[in-house]
Amino acid sequence: MEILNGKKLSQDIKAEIAEEVKLIKQKGGKIPHLAAVLIGNNPASESYVRSKVRSCDFVGFESTLIRKDDSITEEELLEIIHELNTSDDVDGFIVQLPLPKHIDEVKVTLAIDPKKDVDGFHPVNFGRMAQGLDCYLPATPFGIIQMIERYGIETSGKHAVVVGRSNIVGTPMSILLSRKAKSGNATVTLTHSRTKDLAAEVSRADIVIAAIGIPNFISADMVKEGAVIIDVGINRVEDESRKKGYRLVGDVDFDSVSEKASYITPVPGGVGPMTVTSLLMNTLKSSRKEIYG
Ligand code: NDP
Repeated sequence: MEILNGKKLSQDIKAEIAEEVKLIKQKGGKIPHLAAVLIGNNPASESYVRSKVRSCDFVGFESTLIRKDDSITEEELLEIIHELNTSDDVDGFIVQLPLPKHIDEVKVTLAIDPKKDVDGFHPVNFGRMAQGLDCYLPATPFGIIQMIERYGIETSGKHAVVVGRSNIVGTPMSILLSRKAKSGNATVTLTHSRTKDLAAEVSRADIVIAAIGIPNFISADMVKEGAVIIDVGINRVEDESRKKGYRLVGDVDFDSVSEKASYITPVPGGVGPMTVTSLLMNTLKSSRKEIYG
């Protein structure tokens, strides 16, 4: 069994990006600039955004954090998005989800200019992805594809089972693995809460992508010997022995499943760091005008 070390891989990719930024600086070019909008005080969102800003610092990107209280109106948030869309300096930006209940997430996502949508959530980018056109891939699936590619994991002709069908993880993952492209060509089954016999579906998988949000949901008895296991879940479970009073676990029961897997991602240190790195890769693409010119 080999651990898919997302932490190490993301450090390697960030070092590559940092080298590119150095070259840009030497040539007097424009430094890539990522902005993040954070609304309210959700501790998980704060920690994600902090790590995004830290990663920008690490690679030498410019970053801007726009923090607003959760009393912000939808109109005020849309105005901030408009300013970011039209800023010459900002190459890409993200609006950290979830948003307060009085703000329509769909409206906000649609307001982001697809050219600056480095999270890859806008339907224009999603549609382009589905048709195999150049686009900003959604950050988490992009990170998983990077991981699969860089570890040389074969996907062609394999049976992949994706558990969870969200717009940001499960559904795009199912599209990417089934497309006629590198790290694609898999036969994909997309499962969800209405799937009749989930255990039977997962047990047929050569590759399992777990994106459900339920701690340790995928157990060893559901998994085929030698399967590749990608655990997207990030769940907090109480743990009095930790200073914070909790620890993070995935959707996969790592201890038992790792005994059967050929490759497995840990939580933390697996998919999470790759997601942040994908954002940087998308921002670099945007600053080079690689996709939309
Ligand atoms: P969502 O809550 O949007 O979607 C969860 C999906 O799981 C749904 O499709 C749901 O089915 C399905 N599901 C729920 N319960 C079951 C069940 N008992 N059996 C089968 N399917 C089930 O989650 P996200 O995709 O946003 O996130 C999933 C997990 O990944 C979370 O833990 C999240 O924190 C984590 N995450 C991690 C990221 C990272 O960078 N590592 C990035 C994004 C998310 P249905 O559609 O029928 O309701």
